Amino acid sequence: MRNLSERYGTTVFSDQVMREYLPSDTYAKLNLTIKQGKPLDLEVANSVAHGMKEWALSHGATHYAHWFQPLTGITSEKHDAFLEPCHDGTAITKFTGKELVQGEPDASSFPSGGLRATFEARGYSAWDPTSYAFIKDEVLCIPTAFCSYNGEALDKKTPLLRSISAIEKQSKRVLALFGKHPSSIQVNVGNEQEYFLIPEEVYAKRQDLIMCGRTLFGAPPCKGQELDEHYFGAIRPTVNAFMKELDDVLWGFAIAAKTKHNEVAPAQHELAPVFCNVNRAVDENLLTMEEMRLLASHHDLVCLQHEKPFEGINGSGKHNNWSFGSESENFLDPGDAPEDNLQFAVILTCVIEAVDNYQDLLRMSTASCGNDHRLGAHEAPPAIVSIFLGDELSGVVEGLVSGQLAGHVSHAQLDFGVDVLPTFDRDTTDRNRTSPFAFTGNKFEFRMPGSSQNVSDANLILNTAVAKSLKDFADAMEARDTSVSFEHAALEYARKTLSEHTRILFSGDGYAEEWEREAERRGLSNLKTTADALPCFVSQKSIDLFGEMGVLTEPEVRSRYEVKLEKYNKLMNIEATTMLRMARRTYLPVISAYATKIAKGITTIEGAQPTASMAHERRELEMLLAGVDAIYEGIGALRDAHDATRALADAQEQADSYAHTIAPLMERLRASVDAMEPIVARDYWPVPTYDDILFYM
Ligand code: ADP
Ligand code: MG
Repeated sequence: MRNLSERYGTTVFSDQVMREYLPSDTYAKLNLTIKQGKPLDLEVANSVAHGMKEWALSHGATHYAHWFQPLTGITSEKHDAFLEPCHDGTAITKFTGKELVQGEPDASSFPSGGLRATFEARGYSAWDPTSYAFIKDEVLCIPTAFCSYNGEALDKKTPLLRSISAIEKQSKRVLALFGKHPSSIQVNVGNEQEYFLIPEEVYAKRQDLIMCGRTLFGAPPCKGQELDEHYFGAIRPTVNAFMKELDDVLWGFAIAAKTKHNEVAPAQHELAPVFCNVNRAVDENLLTMEEMRLLASHHDLVCLQHEKPFEGINGSGKHNNWSFGSESENFLDPGDAPEDNLQFAVILTCVIEAVDNYQDLLRMSTASCGNDHRLGAHEAPPAIVSIFLGDELSGVVEGLVSGQLAGHVSHAQLDFGVDVLPTFDRDTTDRNRTSPFAFTGNKFEFRMPGSSQNVSDANLILNTAVAKSLKDFADAMEARDTSVSFEHAALEYARKTLSEHTRILFSGDGYAEEWEREAERRGLSNLKTTADALPCFVSQKSIDLFGEMGVLTEPEVRSRYEVKLEKYNKLMNIEATTMLRMARRTYLPVISAYATKIAKGITTIEGAQPTASMAHERRELEMLLAGVDAIYEGIGALRDAHDATRALADAQEQADSYAHTIAPLMERLRASVDAMEPIVARDYWPVPTYDDILFYM
């Protein structure tokens, strides 16, 4: 077996591979494009394509594909062979610069939210040289952006790249005020990906898991997560074999998979790579999720990436660790004396202002059918956005607001009280696991995104909102009365801005009910469902933000809103339909059959032994029959309401109905089926239960 570092990056066209396979002038020009955004001419593209092809063929590739992220959020690829037939019955391999740089997939079957009529099918994909091309299953995959014939973005990558440019441009203006002129600005992201692994055998027996990725029914297991024994517990061999294979494949893609562990819920796990620039981090995360699903099958397992596969058991998120900086510093690093660090104070002020001003958009960016079951549930961050700063930074902010600089917080020593164990400096802040947006030392951790989501959306909002705050600061400073020193003006700006936004700061328990009331008093938004959260996307404030920052045009914003709405409605439709089918065809016949068996038993025993009391059997029968009644009733109510919802022509009205009428009816129907599970004989129960699914070897 190759050693660990040799296994790394073997399936990507990395910088090192480029140096090896490209002529030196091509390599130099390509680097100018990658690092400084200089346009790439066709001659250089031809040379890169040739080098890429040679490398790909030497690694067994037969096809190439533009790999892009349409608005479905997942990735798409169409494979073309490198082969080009000759007249004499032979073939050569060919891959041109044009084929590398530009593709023309038929866009008509990808969601566009009304940006493009079906007959205007043309779409373009354009090579993104800032993310590595890679070989996946003998296909050279080229990360690309995707747009319509008229140049409107039809994907998740294009606006993310635009938002990176926006924050880069405004950061440079702010840094210039501090006399610094970095050549580039980078947004860094590390995503912690949570997921469940369950046996394929039980998965295959559950229509709800197959159709919806989550269980629509299921009584609580005998044992859930109450013993806290799974979190960081020893990893079972089946899962370990999967994780090892996954690590190996990811390392090949130069994805620095670093941390893996068992999560709180039984059968739940987490993987975190080392952070990198946000564009690549999103690509890496999508590729990681795809490999997780694929490789699970090698181990007779299924990887569930849904936000809430099991009721009453922790859901899965994707913590988005976010920071930004230049080649020489992380702007979110407070340094040893944050209270004296004016640049840090300004950056922190801008982030706080951005999160408060655009809290609804941040919430919206994480809204999805699946995440509706997670946000606000007992173990997940609430649907209210707030910021946790920790003691040290809270002190700094208080100091700034009151116009005095805070005193220095010295690091306390931590002593285990055992001589052989070392003592060390304690962190100045404890963690707050309940905060949706927490400062964690030198980055913010946004915990609202769901496990199945493409975090491009969340990062694009973060980048854009922070770019806007930075811009406002730079505008104000550049226009200031020059008799006032920059330091004085900047401190005054921070004081004023922070005092307007302290409502967003919260260090208490984000899961407590009291917080919900307090947040309401503070005027924070609490958008509980996707249907409630999406409309803010098309508000004037949002359209203005994206327009001003050059990230999305108004038609692009509107189309994205439409696509999100449509996706939510379609998923809710699938869930309601699956639920009705399962209740009617899977559960009811079985519960009735079991009731009949009990009834027959009563008659038979009474025939043989007329004095038998049969009280328990009768009570059992009564419960079963009442259950059957409740289920019939629940089916009728859900079916009628669902028919009415489907008939609604307006997509927002339909979403409102799904969120506020259908979802509660689904919960009610689920409860009546789940109530039967513990009383129907195990041999009769038609699907694997939570015990069967979550506890395996
Ligand atoms: P936790 O203790 O929160 O579970 P993990 O180690 O699981 O932390 O994950 C933390 C993630 O944050 C990793 O992906 C890590 O690379 C990333 N990270 C660390 N520093 C930064 C930073 N400055 N900017 C962005 N991401 C970072
Ligand atoms: Mg974390």
